[in-house]
Amino acid sequence: MITRSSALLQRPTPATQPLPVQARWQTQLARAIRDPRELCRRLGLDEAWHGGAERGHALFEVRVPEAYLARIRPHDPADPLLRQVLPLGEETEVTPGYVADPLAEAEHTPAKGLIHKYAGRVLLIASPACAVNCRYCFRRHFPYEENAPSRAQWEASLDYLREDATIREAILSGGDPLAANDRRLAWLVERLGAIPHLKRLRIHTRLPVVIPDRIDDALLDWLGGTRLQTVMVLHINHAQEIDEAVVAACRRLREAGVTLLNQSVLLRGINDDVDALAALSERLFEAGILPYYLHVLDPVAGAAHFDVNDDDARTLVAALREVLPGFLMPRLVREIPGEASKTPL
Ligand code: SF4
Repeated sequence: MITRSSALLQRPTPATQPLPVQARWQTQLARAIRDPRELCRRLGLDEAWHGGAERGHALFEVRVPEAYLARIRPHDPADPLLRQVLPLGEETEVTPGYVADPLAEAEHTPAKGLIHKYAGRVLLIASPACAVNCRYCFRRHFPYEENAPSRAQWEASLDYLREDATIREAILSGGDPLAANDRRLAWLVERLGAIPHLKRLRIHTRLPVVIPDRIDDALLDWLGGTRLQTVMVLHINHAQEIDEAVVAACRRLREAGVTLLNQSVLLRGINDDVDALAALSERLFEAGILPYYLHVLDPVAGAAHFDVNDDDARTLVAALREVLPGFLMPRLVREIPGEASKTPL
């Protein structure tokens, strides 16, 4: 099984003490918890959780920044944020149909670090690192070591975009694109903005959620300076993830002219009930974010225990429609390899 190359990622610094609140985002990223026992200890989980956490961590390393850890209730193994980041022994189970590359992205990679699946838009892997490692991530086995962006690879990707006038939108993804430094991102976005047929820049990120201090002046300089219309698709699965620091980060983004959308994954034991999904949509809107997609789980190896079956998913969404206005309803979708777009359920 291919696992993410830790060699590509920043070296861990043991996080034995909470960071000062003012720590820069880079420091928070570097000091994220990467030891499963440390995670258990900090949250008051007893020895019974340690073995599973170690086994899951061996397949996909644990990573939790302090700002996210602070929103997890201690001594509660059922906490919906904890369940997104705590490795479990279930991740070692082999489940038929659950594979390393559930979206067949390897078949849509015309250049390293570039994925072209859908008409009119192209995805660039802008960073191989994430600030948090979500246990259900469909790219948990992605060969980042083969797709880590170098300046030369970005030049090749830019050539690809320049030569195809049908491409209207560039999507920065990862890993998490905002884990890259602002100098590199500013360089890339400036060149994207110089491609006349490109209209939009879309950024898929979880960093403003897990380390809200990532939305700082340096980021807003390049993000607010591009001529491209800019959309940021956040990834939030539960209302508890949106604290006041996230709300403030979103406010700064909106003031810079960024449109904010959210995509969630429907996850068993985390948000698979009407109250949790309704509270999520309400809280998203309070933060100025529109619900966009509710994805069913991609069948990635190691994540089968999060699956909600299609019938239950449809029943949930029908019930959700009875309590939310239409503009707060996310679209329930599945991504099917080879299809021209996401498939509504
Ligand atoms: S932040 Fe996104 S890409 Fe990174 S592990 Fe989580 S789901 Fe995957």
